[in-house]
Amino acid sequence: MSANKRKPILLIGLGRFGGAVARTLERMGHEVLAVDCDGDLVQEFAPDLTKVVQADATDEAVLERLGARDFDAAVVGIGTDIEASVLTVLALADLGLTNIWAKATNDKHARILERTGATHVVFPEQRMGERTAHLINERLLDFISFGNEFAIARLAAPEPIVGLPLITSECRKKYEVTVVGVKREGEDFIHAVPDTIIFPGDELVVSGRISNIEKFSGI
Ligand code: ADP
Repeated sequence: MSANKRKPILLIGLGRFGGAVARTLERMGHEVLAVDCDGDLVQEFAPDLTKVVQADATDEAVLERLGARDFDAAVVGIGTDIEASVLTVLALADLGLTNIWAKATNDKHARILERTGATHVVFPEQRMGERTAHLINERLLDFISFGNEFAIARLAAPEPIVGLPLITSECRKKYEVTVVGVKREGEDFIHAVPDTIIFPGDELVVSGRISNIEKFSGI
């Protein structure tokens, strides 16, 4: 069991993002104390989470009464109301929390969140938008980016490397991508090694710069 398992998490804002984070954390075995100012949402989530409280999270005194200081991590899922998002992060930071995750709706919002004490800023809509665009492109079957430049993707093996062992097709040198795993039809992924021969219909997991993965998928 990882050291982080089952630590209680404070979650503010049960919108689409916060609600999904809260339910997933509970399923993973964490205790989740959720706070939202909307009474209907509080009722909706009450059966699924450890504790759900209706309150204004921008009020530091309220957060203190809820025991916010004792949480190792907090997630602020307020996005639309930027003022409430920033004030909530500020209140949590003033209470001494050092592991604050916050959702941002744009770059300026993200910068303010970082300055006010958020330790991790996430852009769920933007990330999902980029991911969807790459999947619509159809050559990529799955895609996860890290920052703006690097990604890991699953794709159908491009025709020019089919029939060759990876050492011969020189993916790293020619296309500047690393083939990490290979999946034959009906089998599980295996780690790619230099001798791995790529067969027609194989799927690959590759890592590299996004632009290089895009080029590689279309060769
Ligand atoms: P999403 O796009 O993920 O649905 P929203 O920003 O629309 O995100 O939702 C944020 C949630 O945060 C809403 O459920 C809203 O009621 C809640 N919220 C907004 N301001 C506060 C606040 N000051 N205190 C507690 N909850 C808040």
